[in-house]
Amino acid sequence: MLSRRNVLLGVVASATGLALVRCGAGASSQAAQVVPPPGPPPPPAPPPWPQLLPPPPAAARVLLPGGGVLSALPGAGDLMSLTLDDGVDTKVVRAYAQLAKDTGIRLTMFVTGVFASWTDNRDLLLPMVESGQIQLGNHTWIHPDLTKLTPLKVADELRHTDQFIRDTFGVDATPYYRPPYGAYNDVVQSVAADLGYTETTLWNGSSGDDQILAPHDIVANADKWFTPQSIVISHLNHPPVTTVYHELIDIIHDRNLRTVTLNDVFDKPESTRLTSAYPG
Ligand SMILES: [Zn+2]
Repeated sequence: MLSRRNVLLGVVASATGLALVRCGAGASSQAAQVVPPPGPPPPPAPPPWPQLLPPPPAAARVLLPGGGVLSALPGAGDLMSLTLDDGVDTKVVRAYAQLAKDTGIRLTMFVTGVFASWTDNRDLLLPMVESGQIQLGNHTWIHPDLTKLTPLKVADELRHTDQFIRDTFGVDATPYYRPPYGAYNDVVQSVAADLGYTETTLWNGSSGDDQILAPHDIVANADKWFTPQSIVISHLNHPPVTTVYHELIDIIHDRNLRTVTLNDVFDKPESTRLTSAYPG
């Protein structure tokens, strides 16, 4: 005679068997107990990066135009130099370095030496700095308005970051320096040139992200300024840009722009390093 308990067990077993058939699992009721209920589908994988064009061959490099101020790439062509300044936020520096690693985009980073982001991310950056995919330029030590400093202080600012880049990455950042705020005068240029920094490197397009911008505004600025032969200034300071990398890369790709460092475009001049009037 079936006890009430056995009847109940039989009902449970039948129900479990039904579940096993539905799940397509094996016959073990033990397995059925560990099959999790169906969860939400995994998030879609981000779309793969489009293939970016390689830099021009070394034989295509040209002499620096002279005049000491560089704000666009010379001539007609399909090049774009994306330059990234400061390094306030170590996570943004890391994200850009990872972007470069993932996509092959060529970048020039203007280092403000005081920020820890440069040492924090040294190991990720170093192989790309050594290969030339990422070029480092000098953006002073503490980011002052150089026109408000004495010549000796201007020299200190540039020399400190110059030495930091040599010690940390083993490369020579001359002849490209970017004066903070784009502020320079004859004295600044003279002192900089004396230290080998003969190219006051400005820009003709901007992402506008020296302040915190909404991601769609950063994309709008890229849409406006990512143009042939441009030098575009962006910043390594605020996270929103890291959320629109796919949009930025798509603009570069769709316009057939060839990203370049400054060293990809210009022959590095013979050392212009003189016996400095501003010894350290
Ligand atoms: Zn800056």
